[in-house]
Amino acid sequence: MGRVRVLAAATIVAGALVAGACGGDAAKDDGRLNVVATTVQITAMTKELGGDRVALRGLVPAGADAHEFEPTAKDLAAIEDARLILRHGIGLDDWLDGTLEAGASARVVTVTDGIDLLPPALAGGSGDMDPHVWQDPDRAKAMVRNIAAALAAADPQDAAAYDDAARAYEATLDAARADTQRIIDEIPADQRKMVTNHDAFGYFARAFGLEVAGAVIPGASTQAEPSAKDTAALLDVIREQGVRAIFAESTVDADLARPLARDAGVTIVDDLYGDSLGKPGSGAETIQGMWLANARKIAGALAGGG
Ligand SMILES: [Zn+2]
Repeated sequence: MGRVRVLAAATIVAGALVAGACGGDAAKDDGRLNVVATTVQITAMTKELGGDRVALRGLVPAGADAHEFEPTAKDLAAIEDARLILRHGIGLDDWLDGTLEAGASARVVTVTDGIDLLPPALAGGSGDMDPHVWQDPDRAKAMVRNIAAALAAADPQDAAAYDDAARAYEATLDAARADTQRIIDEIPADQRKMVTNHDAFGYFARAFGLEVAGAVIPGASTQAEPSAKDTAALLDVIREQGVRAIFAESTVDADLARPLARDAGVTIVDDLYGDSLGKPGSGAETIQGMWLANARKIAGALAGGG
C-alpha cells in the first residue's frame, strides 16, 4: 500500500501540471467529483453516498470476478482522469497497481483501511486475510464511513452532504441487517451449516450465525484447484455434519461443486452473490439487497423440511 501511495502522491503533481497545460475537458468541468471505484461493492456504496455530486466509474462490473479482473483501455483512461480512486485492497484489486504506475493523477484511498480483518473461514495457514469484508454489516459500514471521508476530503465543500448520506445509508444497512438476521433465524439451529464453492462467506456466516463447514475451492481466491484428497475430505464433512447444501456463486464456475453435490446427495445453489452484486434491476445490485437475496437463498436450501 505504501508504494501505491507514494506513486499516487508523486503523480498528483504531474497530473496537475498536465491539466494546467492542456486545459480541462468538458466532462471534468461539470462540477462533479470524478471518482473511480475498483469493485462493484465500492461502486454501489459510492453511488449511495455521492449521488449527483459524483461522476462515478466502477471498474469491475456486476457479475464479474474481482479476483480475475483486467482493466480495459477505457478503464485506464478513467483512472487517468479521476481525482479520487477508491480501491478495496486485501489482494482483491492488486491489478490496479500496474495502472497506477502508468500515471494516475488521483488520490488513492484503500477503503478497507482500519477494518479488523479475519483469516478466511477455512484458513489454510497461508497468512492471507479474507477480503470479503462487505459481507459483514459492521465492516460494510466501516467501508461506508471510509468512502464518505474520502469523498469529503476530495470535495470539502460538500463534506456535510457526504456525512448526511453516510448516516442515512448506515441506517438502511442496519435495517437490512435485521431483516437478513430474521431470515437466517428461520433455519433450524442445527442446519445452519454451509459448504461454499469458494471461501467468500466467512464474514457473512459469522455475522449472522451460520457455520462454514467447508469450501470446494481451497484458499481465499477463486483459482486454486482442490486435490482428490481435498474433495474426498469435503465429502466426509458434508456427510458427517449433515450439511444440506453446497453454495456456489453467480461469478465462480460451479463445475467442481456440481458433481460433489451429486455424490453427496445434497442441493446445490449456484447463484449466491459472493464476490459480486446482482445486475441492475435484480434487487441484489445494492449491498443491502445482496445480503437479503443471499439470506433467502441460503434459508431456502437449509430450512426445508425433511
Ligand atoms: Zn472472492
